[in-house]
Amino acid sequence: PQPNTPMLEVQDLGIRFGGLQAVRDVTASLPAGQITAIIGPNGAGKSTFFNLISGFYQPTSGRIRFRGEDITRLRTHQVVGRGIARTFQTTTIYKELSVLDNAMIGHRVRTRAGLLDALLRTGRERHDEGESRAGAMRALERVGLAAQAGRPAGALTQEGQKRVGIAMALASDPHLLLLDEPAAGMNPEETVSLMSLIRELVAGGLTVALVEHKMNLVMGLADQILVLHHGQKIAQGTPAEVSRDPAVIEAYLGG
Ligand code: ADP
Ligand code: MG
Repeated sequence: PQPNTPMLEVQDLGIRFGGLQAVRDVTASLPAGQITAIIGPNGAGKSTFFNLISGFYQPTSGRIRFRGEDITRLRTHQVVGRGIARTFQTTTIYKELSVLDNAMIGHRVRTRAGLLDALLRTGRERHDEGESRAGAMRALERVGLAAQAGRPAGALTQEGQKRVGIAMALASDPHLLLLDEPAAGMNPEETVSLMSLIRELVAGGLTVALVEHKMNLVMGLADQILVLHHGQKIAQGTPAEVSRDPAVIEAYLGG
């Protein structure tokens, strides 16, 4: 990609579920090396937007470009292969497996065909075990969990489990990390800790987009904010710009 190519660009992106236009004509770009927050009331289309970018849903209109390449029609494992990883709004870690095994599943999603395949092979095939383990350990180090590698993931705190989910995503060695409501279910202290982890990851060269429905949580974190309401982008700008935008205030007050 050219030096000034945005990490991700979406143009007129949309998806319709029957009679519901969940995302409508969204045009936006995510600059490399920055934190973009996608905010909006519940049901605004934030998670759906991530599902479109990550190939879980196929758009009914529009294009998606990643590092200059059109990825609109790619499948999830192909999107991961290009360098986009995500976490989910509800935790999807395997609580009975060790922290390291969880991260190794994340690593195999990148190196093999897909998640099911990754799960089926856990603890069985040995030939690329070493490489997988090393990649998983690097991911755990990035989220500060290397010392917990051998513990069952379910024994960690809420925030620790969130970090496991992030390590699973990082283990695929992404350029762009999508976090869907990473602070959900967290107390203020845990939230602060998670936000500083996100800042560290970005300082290390990652581009991050995160979804959050509470506007105040992203004010001190995001470089730019996109606001969705009823599936449409109603505002985009710095936290200061967005927080004084009448359309945004109206969307939040009006629900
Ligand atoms: P948010 O994450 O902003 O709270 P979502 O993106 O989850 O909102 O949902 C946006 C709208 O799209 C909601 O009305 C939701 O019910 C609908 N929606 C999301 N996924 C599907 C689906 N697979 N089928 C039908 N409707 C869906
Ligand atoms: Mg959501």
